[in-house]
Amino acid sequence: MDIVRPSDTGYAALQHVYSSTGRPGSILLPRTTTEVAEALAIVRASGRPFAVRSGGHGISSIATNTGGDVIDLRALASVEPRGGRSVRVGPGARWGAVAWALAPHGLAISSGDSGDVGVGGLATTGGIGLMGRAHGLTIDRLRGAEIVTADGTARRVSGDEEPDLFWAIRGAGANFGIVTAFDFEASETADVVQTTAVYQPIDLAAFLQAWGRTVETAARRVSAFLYLGAGPTPFAQATIVYAGDDLEAAAPEIERFLRIPGLAGQRAAVTPYAAVPLTSGAPHTGQQRAATHTGLAVHLDQDLSDRIAVLLRSAGVDMVQIRSVGGAINDVDPAATAYAHRHQNFSVTAVSVRGGDAFHDAWESVHPRMDGMYLSFETDHAPSAVAEAFPPATLARLRDLKARWDPDDLFDQNFDVSRTSAELS
Ligand SMILES: Cc1cc2nc3c(=O)[nH]c(=O)nc-3n(C[C@H](O)[C@H](O)[C@H](O)COP(=O)(O)OP(=O)(O)OC[C@H]3O[C@@H](n4cnc5c(N)ncnc54)[C@H](O)[C@@H]3O)c2cc1C
Repeated sequence: MDIVRPSDTGYAALQHVYSSTGRPGSILLPRTTTEVAEALAIVRASGRPFAVRSGGHGISSIATNTGGDVIDLRALASVEPRGGRSVRVGPGARWGAVAWALAPHGLAISSGDSGDVGVGGLATTGGIGLMGRAHGLTIDRLRGAEIVTADGTARRVSGDEEPDLFWAIRGAGANFGIVTAFDFEASETADVVQTTAVYQPIDLAAFLQAWGRTVETAARRVSAFLYLGAGPTPFAQATIVYAGDDLEAAAPEIERFLRIPGLAGQRAAVTPYAAVPLTSGAPHTGQQRAATHTGLAVHLDQDLSDRIAVLLRSAGVDMVQIRSVGGAINDVDPAATAYAHRHQNFSVTAVSVRGGDAFHDAWESVHPRMDGMYLSFETDHAPSAVAEAFPPATLARLRDLKARWDPDDLFDQNFDVSRTSAELS
């Protein structure tokens, strides 16, 4: 296994992640599950803080540090179709590469809107993607995994093998170990109809309500993400994906979105699903430092829409993202995975480049209307945030499993459920 230190060639290309700069003392680059276990033993023995990194695109946990160690899984990046719809994917692969590798097989796995995001971070927390209403969260397509747990043992988890651990890693994975392989059941999707629409609404709150109604009443094949720029002049860009290439069926679904007042431009095309997640491949230099707050909502009703409209005019807020959930995501029993939020229709995320009190205060006007939270979009690790990410019964089960699988709280970097236990009780 290569271990790269600050004086080594190549260190500069490895030290930072997307949302932060770092200067770790060593970066360990395992190539196999056995080497991941060895890497864990090394960092454990060092006693220094360590980070687990897959794609390095984390928001809720930053996969670098200064003076500690990093276990960087970029070499575990294979994408292996295994017959039928079965696909094994390494944690270090990025979702754009996964999508392109599966396209020739007529297969796809819904992930998120960014092709630069890594498999490991997303597939251990949820995966709200642009085929989510059609095919569920990314974790809903997971059928098994390999994980190195805190005791250094490599384990197979699935519905039949360590099912409790399999339950836990589908929503709170970072608490339980390092996942070294994911076995997915992909969906049979080659091409999709992708629409990009731009809106300049006169009445932003009314626009948001209309958007919400349109999304909720859309066919399940439709998933739609909305990105709203902050400031005095409302501006929104939408990505709407119909999961399939049946233009006759897709057209009326897309037209409903184009009838929302405020449309300024649109473009629709049949495209390989692999072209949907935006992929830059840009080197990580800590280029996107931002604070975020997030929550889930059932409806974009008048009150919530009014509050989001005010939020967008508030100091310190740069963007609000509204992603559809619902559809197939909500078919899953809330108790079936550690991601338990199965009745909401929207994920709402506010982004601030500078962060600070003004941003946090502005979010407080929307926050009370949120119903649960998807932890991947939240930069605040306060115990109260952990409790929002996991409803009480889920959190209680996670705490029990954490005490069993990670009694020393080795994996405390990302929404640590055991720390919550101490601080909330
Ligand atoms: C531009 C952008 C757009 C995004 N869009 C979406 C979206 O549309 N939908 C969505 O669901 N999410 C989205 N996300 C959030 C993204 O899913 C998370 O930030 C995710 O954690 C990134 O995965 P990564 O492997 O790149 O993370 P990394 O930075 O490598 O890791 C982040 C954390 O995840 C944990 N982790 C990483 N790998 C493993 C592993 N193998 N085993 C156990 N724990 C691990 C660790 O705690 C680590 O600190 C977006 C993020 C960005 C930056």
